Amino acid sequence: MSRRKQIYEGKAKILYEGPEPGTLVQYFKDDATAFNAKKKGVITGKGVLNNRISEYLMMRLEEVGVPTHFVRRLNMREQLVREVEIVPIEVVVRNVAAGSFSQRYGVPEGQALPRSIVEYYYKNDELGDPMVAEEHITAFGWASTQDLDDIMALSLRINDFLTGLFLGVGLKLIDFKLEFGRHWNEHDEMRIVLADEISPDTSRLWDVKTNEKMDKDRFRRDLGNVEEAYREVARRLGIFPEGGPQDLKGPKTMQ
Ligand code: UDP
Repeated sequence: MSRRKQIYEGKAKILYEGPEPGTLVQYFKDDATAFNAKKKGVITGKGVLNNRISEYLMMRLEEVGVPTHFVRRLNMREQLVREVEIVPIEVVVRNVAAGSFSQRYGVPEGQALPRSIVEYYYKNDELGDPMVAEEHITAFGWASTQDLDDIMALSLRINDFLTGLFLGVGLKLIDFKLEFGRHWNEHDEMRIVLADEISPDTSRLWDVKTNEKMDKDRFRRDLGNVEEAYREVARRLGIFPEGGPQDLKGPKTMQ
């Protein structure tokens, strides 16, 4: 059993105090929720896969100059991240209509959008994460105009990069959700960094040829083979080339 102090437990992850000041350990659970936690389930092995997939994507993004909270993976289910002050906004970037966008605006799922659309939602489970405009974000003080400029610019860069990366492995990036945080360096300078995770839990990925859904919609819509789809995304990204994860039982001890 871990004796580390738990900082926060979310629907799919737990945050623990990190080994050094200014760090946290992000633990990926197998729990899955949808429709504001009205639907609950367990996808065996999901935490292991999302830990690896998110690690991979954050590392690739760092390589092209996107600042992230990711430091390094610790074990099968945990990664070390920089402690940030989370901006309470979910940023959704869309390339193709799907999900709530299709419902809200009456656009058939699968219709390509004329250009990428960035939406903001206020992170608040009680209110069901309402969609908000920049006006609400700045008026309520959730982020400044400068923060939002950085968040928008980073989101579009991330979208361009990930769209190409996924296309290269036969997957269409339909939409995805990002979270950002404020990180202060040793000189007390603040910068906006990408936080949370990027995985099939937080994005829609369709096979380029068949349009088969390879993401959490398989869970949301009871399509079956959820873990297999996540595993296939990992496999295509070059993760687990020799088979499945060995540790589906729980965390190994931290370094
Ligand atoms: N998303 C997420 N967390 C949320 C809401 C949405 O990760 O709380 C992701 C979702 O997986 C999808 C994108 O953001 O890739 C857009 O989701 P949408 O607004 O269509 O909502 P949904 O149909 O998932 O309810």
